[in-house]
Amino acid sequence: MSDTDDFERTSALASRALDRMLSDRLPPSPDNFTLWYVYYSGQHPDLTRAVDTASRSGIALSQALCEELFKRFFTLDAEVQAIRETSDKARYALGRVLEQLGNVGSETERYGHALTGFQDELTQPLTLPDLRAMVAAIAAETAAIVDRQTALQLQLQESSHQLAEMRVSLDSARREAMTDGLTGIANRKAFDLMLLDAIQEAGRDGLPLSLLMMDIDHFKTFNDTHGHLVGDHVLKLVARMLTECIKGRDTAARYGGEEFAIILPRTALDNAAKVAEQVRTFVGGRQIVNKARNANYGTVALSIGVAQFRPGEGATAFVRRADQALYAAKRGGRNQVKLEA
Ligand code: GH3
Ligand code: MG
Ligand code: MG
Repeated sequence: MSDTDDFERTSALASRALDRMLSDRLPPSPDNFTLWYVYYSGQHPDLTRAVDTASRSGIALSQALCEELFKRFFTLDAEVQAIRETSDKARYALGRVLEQLGNVGSETERYGHALTGFQDELTQPLTLPDLRAMVAAIAAETAAIVDRQTALQLQLQESSHQLAEMRVSLDSARREAMTDGLTGIANRKAFDLMLLDAIQEAGRDGLPLSLLMMDIDHFKTFNDTHGHLVGDHVLKLVARMLTECIKGRDTAARYGGEEFAIILPRTALDNAAKVAEQVRTFVGGRQIVNKARNANYGTVALSIGVAQFRPGEGATAFVRRADQALYAAKRGGRNQVKLEA
């Protein structure tokens, strides 16, 4: 492509981005400009999908949503960012400790030389005032090095305190990276990791392991009828109800969109089916209300597929079998539990 073509193309994208901000009354900030420029360029399919989905569901592309999209698609995820910041800080803290250690090393050496000097002098005949002066000098050198050692100790304490703080911030970033932003339960990444752990444990201990895959029925219609915000509220509510239905080492996760999963370690298919049935009736029996608006949105139903782990199979195959059971539940008329074939 020639420079002229490129200029034409990028100018056209820039105008579309600017027009969009003006027509939607969005502040023409650098972040918004980036968002819309990249959107119109079509270079970022995930961004395109997110914007188009929101538009189709009639959600206003407000400044708040633009900020959220910018954060989601153009900034590093919290974990990566925290790791980067923390390693910078750690490098700085360690640099300071090493510098102090280096200073102390050379000062200790100097102190050694001073003592050796005194030792040499002691082999000479000395007067009492000479000796007194020498003892005072040794005391002064010793006091100085004790001071420096104390300073080093404080510095080391401070550094270890800083390192402990960094660990806390890494832990919280890790937690954030494993948590679904909307519902506060485990996200897909956490689910994948926990399922691998559970599979390993089941393989090692020869204990059963089961998986529920769940999908809200006709959720698109629910969103279309009551709006996306009410839909979001339902997702939060369902997530909370799932966690209320499980205990101990079980994990409930948002698998994606309106799909959820529950990992049930040490549970065989028959008991997993019971849990699934409890979840289905518990969620399906809950009236979704907004007290402030005195609104009742009815209920939502879940279709659930259940599978038990087969020794030797991988996570993907295991999830696929639970998913197939879920689709059988959909085909069977929804709002029901189906076990693996
Ligand atoms: P089915 O019974 O076959 O599962 O039908 P469905 O409408 O639930 O399935 P479909 O896959 O057609 O639509 C899923 C819907 O879930 C569409 C999408 O708008 C909605 N959805 C996905 N993620 C979110 C979200 O984060 N918030 C809201 N409010 N809706 C979401
Ligand atoms: Mg779905
Ligand atoms: Mg659905």
